[in-house]
Amino acid sequence: MPIKPRQKVSLQALNTLAVPATAEYFVEINSNEQLAEALIWANERRLPVLPLGGGSNLILQQDFPGLCIHMLNKGIEFLPVDDDWLDVRAQAGENWHDFVRTCLDHQAYGLENLALIPGTVGAAPIQNIGAYGVEVKDYLYQLEAMNCETGELIRFSNADCQFAYRESVFKSALLDQFIVTAVTFRLKTQAQPHYEYAGLAQALEQVSEPDAEDVFRAVVALRSAKLPDPRQVANVGSFFKNPVISPDHFAQLKAQYPNIVGYADKQGIKVAAGWLIDQAGWKGFQAEAVGVHDRQALVLVNPGHAKGREVLDLAHRIQADIREKFAILLDIEPRIY
Ligand code: FAD
Ligand code: NAP
Repeated sequence: MPIKPRQKVSLQALNTLAVPATAEYFVEINSNEQLAEALIWANERRLPVLPLGGGSNLILQQDFPGLCIHMLNKGIEFLPVDDDWLDVRAQAGENWHDFVRTCLDHQAYGLENLALIPGTVGAAPIQNIGAYGVEVKDYLYQLEAMNCETGELIRFSNADCQFAYRESVFKSALLDQFIVTAVTFRLKTQAQPHYEYAGLAQALEQVSEPDAEDVFRAVVALRSAKLPDPRQVANVGSFFKNPVISPDHFAQLKAQYPNIVGYADKQGIKVAAGWLIDQAGWKGFQAEAVGVHDRQALVLVNPGHAKGREVLDLAHRIQADIREKFAILLDIEPRIY
């Protein structure tokens, strides 16, 4: 089917922060051929492109002046490797949580800690999604992505993606240059569940030898209890990354705040940003339309469907306060447009 971009399309229902914004042009993509056609269409008109999945990790602070490409390409293939490993290749437009569930149904293990993360398979490598001690980089084998200028399909190995904490090459050196079309995960045929995170370990205390299904269920229950469902209260999950500070800086803060939450990291000490925001008194804060979630201070909420700029104003106030109180600059996690 040839593509038919539409003009002046509202993105409010397509971003989980529910901010009102429109795309000058908008198109839905179901295949690589359609994607290539859409890129030619945008390039001929010298328009910027915005690849859109579930809209759960972006902040639209103004209307998008180019072509928004909604990735809806579907399909999952199971490709046996050997007795221990199974490759699972999914098209970018697959829903992430449903994909995790499908993997478990096919005895392909490893992604269960990442259950209930909103969004699509194609966006998962962009910020190397992570939760409860597992990141996409731990299981991603390779991905395919289309060059936005040439339309060429390129294969990226795990190393090519340059994954780091909530980072990849697609957020840095190759920003806006590729659109992920499919991702292949190399998953285990025998489950080796991880449940070291305190909350998860506690939730599984009563279960002797938890298996992958137990971990999946516990993660779903924990997240459902603690995080606002974007279909009910608009949000983009964690608004800030957890900052990594030097051991000396952490020791100074610990002397002043004995309960501060921090974990040793390769680069220093990773501090729980949610704890800092809570300690600074922002948890449950509500302005007119925007606020801070009352069960997880790292999540900003937008129940009044305010504009992106208003949400960012609150984020900037929080950043300034945390800088003043703890000498830490919080980085905003979602992509701002
Ligand atoms: P979108 O928001 O549509 O896009 C995000 C960015 O990726 C944009 O820059 C977009 O242009 C780009 N992009 C999207 N698709 C493609 C593609 N195919 N190719 C190239 N670029 C693309 N994140 C975590 O890491 N861990 C969590 O535990 C977690 N929990 C969350 C909980 C809630 C309640 C919410 C609302 C969000 C949470 N997130 C979490 C953030 C978010 O769900 C993830 O980052 C997710 O991968 C975003 O997917 P998406 O399809 O919605 O991406
Ligand atoms: P939590 O369990 O209350 O922990 C608070 C913070 O401490 C987390 O951010 C986590 O860092 C860190 N942490 C906890 N135990 C750790 C351990 N054993 N080793 C190293 N670090 C540890 O967190 P939560 O808010 O309920 O979230 C649970 C998980 O879901 C976390 O992994 C979180 O990242 C993820 N999540 C992410 C988003 C998002 O939008 N990015 C939204 C909701 C939840 P890490 O964040 O580095 O794991």
